[in-house]
Amino acid sequence: MSSPVSCDSLWSGAAFVTMKEGQYQTIENGALAVLHGKIIWLGPKDAMPEIIAAEHHHFDGGIVTPGFIDCHTHLVFGGDRSAEFEKRLNGVSYAQIAAEGGGIISTVRATRTASEDELLASARQRLKHLLAEGVTTVEIKSGYGLDIDNEIKMLRVIRRLGEQEPVEIYATCLAAHAIPPEFSGDADAWIDVVCEQLLPRVAQEKLADAVDAFCEHLAFNPLQTAKVFTTARDLGLPVKLHAEQLSALAGSSLAASFNALSADHLEYATEEDAKAMAASNTVAVLLPGAFYLLREKQRPPVEAFRQYGVPMAVASDANPGTSPALSLRLMLNMACTLFGLTPEEALAGVTFHAAQALGIQASHGSLEEGKIANFVHWPVARPAELVYWLGGQLPCTVVYEGVRRESSL
Ligand SMILES: [Zn+2]
Repeated sequence: MSSPVSCDSLWSGAAFVTMKEGQYQTIENGALAVLHGKIIWLGPKDAMPEIIAAEHHHFDGGIVTPGFIDCHTHLVFGGDRSAEFEKRLNGVSYAQIAAEGGGIISTVRATRTASEDELLASARQRLKHLLAEGVTTVEIKSGYGLDIDNEIKMLRVIRRLGEQEPVEIYATCLAAHAIPPEFSGDADAWIDVVCEQLLPRVAQEKLADAVDAFCEHLAFNPLQTAKVFTTARDLGLPVKLHAEQLSALAGSSLAASFNALSADHLEYATEEDAKAMAASNTVAVLLPGAFYLLREKQRPPVEAFRQYGVPMAVASDANPGTSPALSLRLMLNMACTLFGLTPEEALAGVTFHAAQALGIQASHGSLEEGKIANFVHWPVARPAELVYWLGGQLPCTVVYEGVRRESSL
């Protein structure tokens, strides 16, 4: 006879939607045991071995999903652009707004002016909205400092958020986000600063987990992007890319050639890009919030991603300009409505495939024995409900590293 297994907590009384391999793979009337913050047993309650639990939590129906992972955000920034949003809707042109100092440069200015504490406080408020909807892991990018000191400042704020809040945060250095005003007309010179001065310092101080760039006509070309990627690779940092958002530059193929974790946006990605991404296992991160706000028409090639087996993630892209999104669930709905994902694909996009987009799929993204016990209980009948409702708040119980997290809103 085998001896009973001891654990810190046992959770039962719900259907466990495991999202293993990116599919629902639901265990009806399941049970999940946690020890030292990890899942040590998961299966049908009927088949459970003898388990001695310090705490037993019984849900009264509903479903349990993995904790949501928002794998692409710009949550740290100064100011906001609601005034600009209003101006645009009152008929003021982009050119006029830019001439008045609006657009991304206004965010750069506000971010440079803000102290670390101010940036931390405003980002924390936005982060709370994501956490209230079951997010347990968030990626946050720099990219509004656009000089050495302010990029470092942003990355420090991101690290501090991760230390202070009950959520796991991955930091990405996106210094190649836009051409700094001081380098107007000389993008190469800024790329030199990024590669020769900033990235080595970021790597040395361990301020980032990955390096990102914006490959687009209004930002950096593929050659400049490749230079940033080569530097990152030499420093041992994985890469990812804002690619094919507004035009086709084969940025996603370039990212794939560097074995990028992900290529993001991808509205203009081609079949060739999809093939290259499949070959390098690069995740396609879809960002329907920006597509919606910019009223884009060109949809990412979801059919090609399916055909070639490119994993698809969905993220908020939370940022002050093109996606002031504070709800990952709304993004799930938009990914289905605007891009044609199925609810199962969308949910995989914020769990299993989002974990892969951050390179943490061995420990995150699905309910499986050995993985971190990040999960969410939802009082709904089926997983599609998480994708279906527009707006409102679904109350949920979030368990973070095996411990129930207090609601922070
Ligand atoms: Zn972005």
